[in-house]
Amino acid sequence: MAELVKGVTVLGATGSIGVSTLDVLARHPGRYRVVALSANTQVERLFEQCLAHRPRYAVMVDADAAEKLAHRLRAHGAETEVLSGVAGLEQIASLPEVEYVMAAIVGAAGLLPTLAAARHGKRVLLANKEALVMSGHLFMEEVRASGAELLPIDSEHNAIFQCMPQKFATGLQRNGVRHILLTASGGPFRTTPLAELASVTPAQAVAHPNWSMGRKISVDSATMMNKGLEVIEACWLFNTDPAHIQVVLHPQSVIHSMVAYHDGSVLAQLGNPDMRTPIAHALAWPERIDSGVADLDIFAVAHLDFERADLQRFPCLRLAIEAMEAGGTVPAVLNAANEIAVEAFLNETIGFTDIARLIEQSMRAVTRREADSLETIFEADGEAREVARALIKGMH
Ligand code: NAD
Ligand code: MG
Repeated sequence: MAELVKGVTVLGATGSIGVSTLDVLARHPGRYRVVALSANTQVERLFEQCLAHRPRYAVMVDADAAEKLAHRLRAHGAETEVLSGVAGLEQIASLPEVEYVMAAIVGAAGLLPTLAAARHGKRVLLANKEALVMSGHLFMEEVRASGAELLPIDSEHNAIFQCMPQKFATGLQRNGVRHILLTASGGPFRTTPLAELASVTPAQAVAHPNWSMGRKISVDSATMMNKGLEVIEACWLFNTDPAHIQVVLHPQSVIHSMVAYHDGSVLAQLGNPDMRTPIAHALAWPERIDSGVADLDIFAVAHLDFERADLQRFPCLRLAIEAMEAGGTVPAVLNAANEIAVEAFLNETIGFTDIARLIEQSMRAVTRREADSLETIFEADGEAREVARALIKGMH
């Protein structure tokens, strides 16, 4: 049976998705073996994870942090080898003994290691949506060329995947799909009076009504940039365009998305809002395994509500759709400006409604180019960050 045990690398192990992934993996020691874990700077957390999961490698992106971790592990007699830097991340995403790579680094920092996993033909469990937003075309080409398996972890995309016909990759229309219904909770400010949005605080923005997540994606959910990034993500994953994706506000977060067919059928995937469900689905696919998630109590849910998304309230959603329609490097610019704006909002340097303004101005300032190479994509990313930072300085 030993050869049936799948070797797994978890990129971003110390984050919200990383921790949920390790929880699911630990429930199935006979199926999965943790080969490598990574984190940015959180030494203590990665140290504890190394003791619990005994990976062969651990990567701390920061060299000083790597040194500290290696020291801590040696003192405990642990055999985990510590690597550092982006090269270390790419290495653990490409190891021959690794078959599955959980891509759960947040933001553009995840692009290179996630791409390395795709290039080496791994099963890529994709949580890091920013990687696909930045490099969709190149990324999907790498997946096709290497024969990698790309399985979505984002709960909506995982739901869509579950509701799709088997051969969806050959084209949605020819497989009977009319459109995708992408659900969104609407975040903490769905009903906040518009006049109050300018003065909401980071603490209010990260307090998501249904999901517990990292800080960046929590702010993205409050602005609905998260849904915008997800529209772009869905376009690449399911080979479609924004015109075939309807965003639906569904405050209960019980339906995780739907697929509408030409015969009038609408398929939905339901479940408790717990990321261990999509993680377990993607790990075991096409089989099903226990995720530790409780049964959905449909009687406790009782009501399912649906509303249209208000683009006035959520300009970030509009900007993301515009970016996808513009194509080329524009989604990478949108993503980079958003990362800078969210960081500035979390540091209380700018206000909540400044986020969308900053992104829109950055998109206007950076010239669109074809996203035909990684160099061009990273140039656009860098330029957008510079523009956004300069705009923030100009606001003070
Ligand atoms: P998080 O902030 O909780 O964790 C991020 C992880 O990435 C940490 O392990 C951190 O050490 C690592 N990291 C951060 N910066 C890094 C860098 N520069 N280089 C290398 N590693 C770095 O984030 P999260 O909520 O777990 O989200 C991770 C990804 O999954 C994001 O792309 C997010 O959009 C996506 N996602 C998350 C959820 C969720 O429920 N949390 C749901 C859907 C999608
Ligand atoms: Mg999502």
